[in-house]
Amino acid sequence: MQFRRETRLRSRPGAMKDNPGPYHKRIVALATKHQKDRVMAPAFRRFLGASVIVPNGIDTDSFGTFSGEIERVGTALDVVRRKARLAVEVSGHPLALASEGSFGPDPACPFFPCGMEVIVFIDDERKIEVVESDLTEETNFSSTTAASAREMQDFLEHARFPSHRLVVAPENEIAPGLLKKGIGRYSELEKAVQAAARGSSTGKALIATDMRAHMNPTRMAGLEKLAEKLARRLASLCPACGAPGWGVVDAVKGLPCESCGAQTELVARDIYGCASCATRLSKPRGDGQKFASACRCPHCNP
Ligand SMILES: [Zn+2]
Ligand SMILES: [Zn+2]
Repeated sequence: MQFRRETRLRSRPGAMKDNPGPYHKRIVALATKHQKDRVMAPAFRRFLGASVIVPNGIDTDSFGTFSGEIERVGTALDVVRRKARLAVEVSGHPLALASEGSFGPDPACPFFPCGMEVIVFIDDERKIEVVESDLTEETNFSSTTAASAREMQDFLEHARFPSHRLVVAPENEIAPGLLKKGIGRYSELEKAVQAAARGSSTGKALIATDMRAHMNPTRMAGLEKLAEKLARRLASLCPACGAPGWGVVDAVKGLPCESCGAQTELVARDIYGCASCATRLSKPRGDGQKFASACRCPHCNP
């Protein structure tokens, strides 16, 4: 892959501070039934001057649910694309937005849970798609089994109950009548746990964190940050063609070891790219770090 040198590209005169930007006063349709507009609308208003609306009649649960009644088909990116596409169709607006979360063990450290959020913006007028994602350990994602709510005080604390809500179901059984979501009161929890435990062959209920955005303030806070990252990126224009969505599209590993200079697995350079044309620019990593610690070096710390 070849990169143009930064010095050969100049910002277009249109990209000035007083320019209202590409999405000023535009409407963006958001596919959500979990109140994600609470955090996405302010970000799009602030950085782009755009209004986020939630069209009626979109059931995002049809793409899969966290509690497993409907299985998700395809990757998180496939799902966000389908959700955003549906928002375009239902609303008739050419601009749309959707996000999708996935939760599980941290791939690098399986004893810790982590969350992955993907957010996509589509612009059917310019025929562009801009994606941002975030992998975080800042999640309460967890589950336990118990016959009574009294047995699980540690879990409740870890799950940040009751500010973060819970889902209860019989362990090892599929019983839609005994699946309760959005539980936010102790009395309600005790009742659901006892009923689910009675309905399970193991005599126990499965209790899990409710990961739907409007039931989980930690997840909502993560979405807010990601929506801001996306909105800022959409306000950033390609230096060559002026299209919105200029930002990091790839990374080159090989940050040199501080001790021996060997290349490490750490990112050395970020690759910036345009959502519309083929322009790419290579820049040193954004945080200014020039060397990797020797403990990340394959020679110094094999
Ligand atoms: Zn080294
Ligand atoms: Zn471009």
